[in-house]
Amino acid sequence: MTQFFSFLYQIISLITITFLISFAVYAIRNRVSVGAVPFAIWLGFTSGWLFVQNLIAYLPEDLITIGLRIELFLLSFVPATFLLFILQFTAHKRWNNSWRQSIILILPLVTILFGLITRMDEMIWKNIEFLKINNLNFVDFEFGNWFVIFWIYSIFLYGFIFYEINNHSKLSINIEISQAMMFKLSAGISLILSLLCLIPLFQPEILKIASIGFGISGILIGFSIYHYQLFDLSPLIYHSLLENIEDGIIVINKSYRLLQINRTAKMLLNLNGNAIIGEVLHSLLPVNSPWLNVILFKQNDLVFQSENGQETYYEINFSSLSTHNQNPNELILIRDITEYKSSKLAEQSAREMAEIRAMELDVLLKVAEQLNQSVELKDVMSMGLEAIVSLIGARFGYVILADEFGRPGLAGSYKLPEAVKEAFDAYPICPVCKSFERLLNGEYQEPVTFMPCRVLFDVSISYPGLISIPLKLGERRIGFLHLVMAPEVIFSGDEISLLQTLGDQFSAAVERARMYENFEKMAMIDSLTGLYNRRQLFNLGQIEFSRACRYNHSISVIMLDIDLFKKVNDVYGHIIGDQVLQQIANRCRSVLRTSDIIGRYGGEEFVILLPETSIHHAQNIANRIRLLVLDRPIMTDRGDISVSVSLGISSMEGDCDSRLEWVIDQADQALLKAKDLGRNRVVTWKENQLPLYQKIDKPK
Ligand code: GH3
Ligand code: MG
Ligand code: MG
Repeated sequence: MTQFFSFLYQIISLITITFLISFAVYAIRNRVSVGAVPFAIWLGFTSGWLFVQNLIAYLPEDLITIGLRIELFLLSFVPATFLLFILQFTAHKRWNNSWRQSIILILPLVTILFGLITRMDEMIWKNIEFLKINNLNFVDFEFGNWFVIFWIYSIFLYGFIFYEINNHSKLSINIEISQAMMFKLSAGISLILSLLCLIPLFQPEILKIASIGFGISGILIGFSIYHYQLFDLSPLIYHSLLENIEDGIIVINKSYRLLQINRTAKMLLNLNGNAIIGEVLHSLLPVNSPWLNVILFKQNDLVFQSENGQETYYEINFSSLSTHNQNPNELILIRDITEYKSSKLAEQSAREMAEIRAMELDVLLKVAEQLNQSVELKDVMSMGLEAIVSLIGARFGYVILADEFGRPGLAGSYKLPEAVKEAFDAYPICPVCKSFERLLNGEYQEPVTFMPCRVLFDVSISYPGLISIPLKLGERRIGFLHLVMAPEVIFSGDEISLLQTLGDQFSAAVERARMYENFEKMAMIDSLTGLYNRRQLFNLGQIEFSRACRYNHSISVIMLDIDLFKKVNDVYGHIIGDQVLQQIANRCRSVLRTSDIIGRYGGEEFVILLPETSIHHAQNIANRIRLLVLDRPIMTDRGDISVSVSLGISSMEGDCDSRLEWVIDQADQALLKAKDLGRNRVVTWKENQLPLYQKIDKPK
């Protein structure tokens, strides 16, 4: 029977040793966190003890004492290394420090010392006897005094381990209940066995059961570590993770008791100290704390406004921690999203701004496109106004421009209501207008509202949505672009400046059209006299000549030359000569109808084309001009100068074979005749009348 038990004991020991060594190797190999090394050492001591304990039975007699001492050495360290492992594994704050941990080793070392000193070994092994049972060594003894102390110390250590695991599993969010159970079970087994060791009746055989029991507790922990991969993320890592994470983390249980809180969350909730763990949140937070509401009513966001108006945004997440517990704990994650929020807001406003800019650019582009369609002033007015009115969404628009004397007048309009049109029709030139004067004085730098035109004022038409955009070219003001909006429209600063840009664009287009008109005029008009130049005279004359030919109408030509003009120049100078030229041109013009065409043919020679005019009628007109020149002297800067003119006339009366140049030439010949006859007279060209130059040429 005893043989069977000793065989069983050896078998169990061997199996236990195998497991222990395997777990120790596993722990060392997968050493990713603190706790792995003391764990392996603990298992090493436990398995070593078991091995030596078994070995003693087979040792020669003289080696038994050494075996006993080695066994004592190994077993002394078992409780201490177990505790060191647990302290490191649970990241115990106070004891997680190597010199404090070495205090734990003092008692085992003293125990070993007693075992080594021959005279002192009574303190360990009392009444020791060496026996041989079934050919196997058996050592019988009672526990020495110090050995009893050692076991009390062990009980104390295991008790502490049990308490530590129990405490940790209550607070920690990362040790599963089943894992904690395994840890508690192994600590419990060790605790009970240590207690049993103190009962003298069981000594010393109890040591054999204790060693196996400790071995099994090592296997249990080894298994739980292996199964749950606990070394991969030890509580220490969780702890530092939690503490260093930027988000606030709070764990509460169902009754709002605080189970876990990290540094960030403490800072946010304004909580201090460690004594807060386990307390109910209501008792920790002031009644008016916004966080109380957040947690009680599971609010998902919170905005804090500091004294200087800066806002801090928090996003709060609630999730229940899945445990085997029926009342799962709640994990509250608080994240500061101010930066994210403000960058989102900035992004949004930038996007809106970009959209507005794009829209403005689009409006400017479209208006520019319309304004560039034509250089004719009337086209610029109508197309430009149409584009601006429709793109801005105005009800109608009109332009008031200053004339050469600075008087306001309607220059163009789009969708102008009938009543307003009538009001303007009544005033070809607008009545004196204060706001227009102020505009010309440069008072309006940008669009103004509520400035109805005097004309509208007079007819009692008021438009609350009126906005008046000053039209300017550099410093020069040329008029107003008035847009009438729906009454409720209010323009923002950006829109006002867009309107002004549109106004500037419009002004530039108006100015360009005006300049173009001037250029055109300059190309047709003789700048000194204001009469058509020779080219335009022929252009227009050709049109009239063809028409007369087509409709079989008569057309007459008068050619005029100032008599002895050279003399005027010689006596008074060319500038005075120019003045004489200008005034004679004016006098000629005053006699003519609008349908007549008068141009400067040469130096002081004018040609007058008289459509639908018979030769007889032309003679009257020519004579009227001659007499008008003669009538009163020309007033110049150098006094009055009396001049006369000679005129030659020719006519075409439905003779389609003739040409304008021929008729002009005939008038020229008649003019020469007039000169020849003594000047200051009108001569009509007649068939067979020889040209004067031919007459002069002939005698040669
Ligand atoms: P006649 O009665 O024969 O025409 O005598 P005249 O002196 O007028 O002779 P003519 O027609 O040959 O002289 C033309 C003069 O007109 C010559 C030139 O000095 C002058 N003249 C031509 N164009 C201008 C001008 O633009 N300004 C000025 N001041 N004089 C001009
Ligand atoms: Mg001449
Ligand atoms: Mg002359």
